[in-house]
Amino acid sequence: MSACLLGKKVRYDGGSLAVANQVVEQWRADGRIVSVCPEVEAGMSIPRKPAEISEGCGESVLSGDADVIERDGGRVTHEFLTGASIALDLCHKFNIDVAVLAEFSPSCGSSAIYDGSFSGKKMPGMGVTAALLRQHGVQVFSQHEIEEANKAIQQQSE
Ligand code: SF4
Repeated sequence: MSACLLGKKVRYDGGSLAVANQVVEQWRADGRIVSVCPEVEAGMSIPRKPAEISEGCGESVLSGDADVIERDGGRVTHEFLTGASIALDLCHKFNIDVAVLAEFSPSCGSSAIYDGSFSGKKMPGMGVTAALLRQHGVQVFSQHEIEEANKAIQQQSE
């Protein structure tokens, strides 16, 4: 699960996106949650410059056809790929096949991301980590789909 959704202050602006949800609390009580912030795991600082995928989506970053760019033009594609790879390693290590990641992030977005214009506009697409996890069979949900994620977990354990 995205660390920021668990209340960890790891976002680019030093904040979190904590979700208050009974299902998540039960996961936490059951010791089911593995927390990750791909960007911080890749060595990026808190706070850090905002970054968006330029002219593409997570899949095109993975295929080498797009970059992740900071607002002032710095290229952070390598860090985003590293963070995604670390998240995938955690999935393998802990046998995880369901992930809940923060929507709209260039790492964690699973159905929509910012469009690369730094204007607040969003577009359909995945972030780099969400795309890599899905490529490897992990079911990825957003914080708005906790119930769906819980059903997926229950189906896995049947
Ligand atoms: S990379 Fe993911 S976990 Fe880290 S702050 Fe951004 S949305 Fe949250």
